[in-house]
Amino acid sequence: MTTISARPLTIDAYTKKYPGVPAEAILKEDLLRLGMTFTDAAMEAAKGCRTQAYYLFSYNISAHGDMKKGVSTAAPEDIVFRGGPHGLKRTSVRVVLNAASPYVVDMVGGVPHITEHGVPIAEAVYPSKPAYYGTTFADGMRYEQVVPLLYDSYAFITTFRACHYWGDKEECRFCDINYNLRELRKLTGDHVTADAIKDLPKVVDVLEAMSREPDPAKRMITIIMTGGSIVRPVRGGPDNATDFNLPYVEAIRERIGRRVPIVMITESQPMENVRRFRDAGVTSHNANLEVWDKRLFQWMAPGKEKYIGYDLWVKRLVDAVAVMGEGGVSPNMVSGVEMAQPVGFSTVKEAVASAREGFEFLMSNGVIPHLDTWCVEPGTTLAGHPPIPLDFLIQADLAWYETWRKYKLPPFAGYGPMGAGPGIAIYGNTASVDLGG
Ligand code: SF4
Repeated sequence: MTTISARPLTIDAYTKKYPGVPAEAILKEDLLRLGMTFTDAAMEAAKGCRTQAYYLFSYNISAHGDMKKGVSTAAPEDIVFRGGPHGLKRTSVRVVLNAASPYVVDMVGGVPHITEHGVPIAEAVYPSKPAYYGTTFADGMRYEQVVPLLYDSYAFITTFRACHYWGDKEECRFCDINYNLRELRKLTGDHVTADAIKDLPKVVDVLEAMSREPDPAKRMITIIMTGGSIVRPVRGGPDNATDFNLPYVEAIRERIGRRVPIVMITESQPMENVRRFRDAGVTSHNANLEVWDKRLFQWMAPGKEKYIGYDLWVKRLVDAVAVMGEGGVSPNMVSGVEMAQPVGFSTVKEAVASAREGFEFLMSNGVIPHLDTWCVEPGTTLAGHPPIPLDFLIQADLAWYETWRKYKLPPFAGYGPMGAGPGIAIYGNTASVDLGG
C-alpha cells in the first residue's frame, strides 16, 4: 500500500532541469542507477512472469541475501513502464534489484506501479513467458535455462560464462561475472544453468523453438552471444574466443538460417578472426572498450590492458568497421565508470567531456559504441561505490545521441530500433536509445 510523500519527485525535478529530455529517459536512467524493489503484493502479482535469469552478470545492486527471501529469483527480468501523471510512453527497462532503492513497485488499484517515496509514477508491466519456456530436454533441463529471452525480443546466449581474466589484477573492476557464477550455483529457481559452457546442440534446439514463437510480441529479433574472455584452452579445446564461438554460429545458421542477426561479443580479436566471424554469419562484432579515457581503461580493465592493450583495442575497433560495416561494430561502454573513484573524474563536466570525446572519435570512424548504465554490483571490486549522478547519465546520453545524429549513423545492429524518441526502443540498459524523434 502506498503512502503519499511531500518529498519532490526526481522525475518532476529533472524534467524541469532538462526540458529537452523525455521524462521516460530520465526515469529509466534513474531506475538503472538506483534500482528498484518490490512489495510483497507486487511480488505476488509477478508469479508466473518471466523472472530474473542471471544469464551473465548479477546486474543487481543488492546481493541475494540482502533482499527478502525469494525476491532475487522471482522478480521480473525486465519491465515496461508507461502512463502515470507524466503520460509516459511504454519504455523498456532492465530490473535492477536494490532493497534500499527509493523506487518501489507496489500495487495501486490492483495494478503494479513504480512509486517513488510512495507516490505512483508509472504503471509497471511485467513480462509474461514466451511459448518455449517450460519445454524440457530429456535430462530435465528447461529450454529457458539454456537461452533466456530478454525484453521479449533478445535470445541471449552466454556461451562461456566465466572469465579467464582472474582476480583483482585482471578482472574488470565493475564486473561480477565470476562472482555471479559462484552465487548462482547456490540458488534454485528458473535462472540460466550454471554450467560454464553452453551445450551446443541444446543451444540450437532452443533457438529453433524460439524461431517458431507464435506471438509476434515475443518474437526473437536478435541473437546475442557473449561470454568471459578466453586466454587458454577451454577444457582442452579452443584457446581463443573465435575458435570457441564459431561452431555455435555455424550450427545456428545451419539450423535457422540468416533471418535473425547475430551479435557476437568477445574480447578484441585479430582482423582475420573478425572476418571469419563475418563469413560464418555474425552480423555484428563487439569488443567492449568499456571506457574511453586511456588511463581509466588501464585501471578499470587491467586484464584487457595486459592481454591486448588500449591502443591495439581501439585500432582493431576502427579496422573492424571495414569488415563488418557501419552498425556492425558496437563496443559497450559502461556509462558512469568515468566517475568511479578514486581514479575517475570528480566532476560531471569532465566526465561527460571524456565520454563525448570517445563518441566523437569512434563514431567519426564508423564505430557506434553502445551504452550500458553502470550497475554497482556487490561482487565487484567497486562494490559499495555511491551511485553516479543522474546528471552525468542524462548528459552522456545526450552526447551519444547528438554525435550519432551528427555522423548519420544507423542503429547499432541487433538491438532493435532507436533514435525515434520514447515509446519505440527495446533495449533496456540505457536511455540513450530513447532520445530523438
Ligand atoms: S573481460 Fe572484463 S567485463 Fe568481460 S567478463 Fe572478463 S572481467 Fe568481465
